[in-house]
Amino acid sequence: MFNRFLKLFTLRRKNEKLKVLFDMDNVVSDFASTVIPKLNQRFEKNYKVEDITSWDLTKYYGADVFSVLNEEGLFLGFKPKNDALNEFPKIYNDARFDVWIVTSCGSTNEYAEKVVWMKKYFPDFPINRLIPCSEKDTIWADMLIDDGLHNLKSYEYVGEPVVYDMPHNREFEDGNVVTYKRLHSMSGVRNYLEYRLKEKRNTKVA
Ligand SMILES: [Mg+2]
Repeated sequence: MFNRFLKLFTLRRKNEKLKVLFDMDNVVSDFASTVIPKLNQRFEKNYKVEDITSWDLTKYYGADVFSVLNEEGLFLGFKPKNDALNEFPKIYNDARFDVWIVTSCGSTNEYAEKVVWMKKYFPDFPINRLIPCSEKDTIWADMLIDDGLHNLKSYEYVGEPVVYDMPHNREFEDGNVVTYKRLHSMSGVRNYLEYRLKEKRNTKVA
């Protein structure tokens, strides 16, 4: 057992690149600014994105929320998040970073829409680096950048959890403070990756 871990450790250290997993919705794509108005319209509510302080949308719109979230074509209507359109390619085209998108997909249709969406906005992103997966802690990287606290919490045992700021991730459901590094833009992500890369390279391997 010990030798297996030693081998894995050596493999991880061999590559000098900083391996980073990006969540897609609310990090690369702007899920909330399309979905919240749609939900308001369907359920006759008037919430703003800032009002949604829980991950659980059924608290605001009821259990039927999934009839909208599972709608065909929903993901095709999103815009890129904040400055992602300009800044994200600078990250994934930088040979010093090993970039993957890991995104929960409820259906093959949702995955297909996400592939089409990436081709539209980030045509040079390698599609075999777009992984449909809801249990992100099964994939090793130096870092996971995500807006879902449940994903980040489980990633504590794998790599560094980095939270992409949203109103729903400023504290845990039990009221505990979130102490992960918090970023608000893709340019902020890029600066943080530079910082972490320098630190990784300065760490001597015994
Ligand atoms: Mg997300």
